[in-house]
Amino acid sequence: MTKILAVEDEPEIVLALRLVFERAGYEFISSSDGRAGLRLVHQEKPDLVLLDIGLPGMDGWTVLERIRDLADLPVLMLSAQGQEADKVRGLRAGADDYVTKPFTNNELLARAEALLRRAGRTAGPGPDWESGYDDGLVRIDHRARTVQITEQGGDRAVELTNTEFRLLNVLAKHAGAVLSARQLLTQAWDDPTGLGPERVKFAMLRLRRKLRWDNTNSPIKAVRGVGYRYDRPG
Ligand code: CA
Repeated sequence: MTKILAVEDEPEIVLALRLVFERAGYEFISSSDGRAGLRLVHQEKPDLVLLDIGLPGMDGWTVLERIRDLADLPVLMLSAQGQEADKVRGLRAGADDYVTKPFTNNELLARAEALLRRAGRTAGPGPDWESGYDDGLVRIDHRARTVQITEQGGDRAVELTNTEFRLLNVLAKHAGAVLSARQLLTQAWDDPTGLGPERVKFAMLRLRRKLRWDNTNSPIKAVRGVGYRYDRPG
C-alpha cells in the first residue's frame, strides 16, 4: 500500500489528513516533530511526505534539507496562510509542491496524487482508475457513480448505497490484497467511529446479494480472522 508520512504538530490537521488519506486508500503515518519525522523517513520509507514548516525542535526547512540528503522522495510542504515567501523558498530548497493552510481535502489529495504519479509511486490503481474501473466482470464509472456487472446474457446495472459503492471501490482498488474490517471501515464509511467489524460483515452480505454473488462465484473472499479480498477474474 502506498504510504504517506505527515510531519505536522497540529493534532487537528493530522486527524484531518489521516481521514483524507486513509479513505483514499493510503497507509498513513505521522509525527509531530521534525526529528522523529526524519527517523520515520528512514525506518518507514514513505512514498510521500507532507511537511509542515513551523515545527517544534527542528523546523520544516531543516527537515526538508535532511530528507533531500537521504532520499529522492516527493515532499509536499504545508504552510501557514500569507507566507508567500515560503513558497519560493520551499520550492528552491527542493520541495516538490506547496499548499497553504487552510487547504481543502480535495485540493490536497489531488496535489499529493499528482506528485505520487509523477514519481511513479502509485500502487494499486492502474491508469484506468481515474475515469473508471473495468476488469471484465465489474465496471465502475466514478463520475456517473454507476456499477455494471457482467453476467451470462449481458450486463446488469446494480444500484448501490454510498457505503456499498465505496466498499466495492476499495476492494477492487486493492484487488488481490486482504483488507481488515478496520481498514474497510476507515475507507468505506462516512463516519467509522464507533462502528465494529459486524458492520462490515453485514454490508458485505448486502453487497454480495445485490451483485448476485454467492460463495461459489463471488470474487469477494472472506479470509477467516483477517478480512476480505477481491480477486480479479482470470
Ligand atoms: Ca505547525
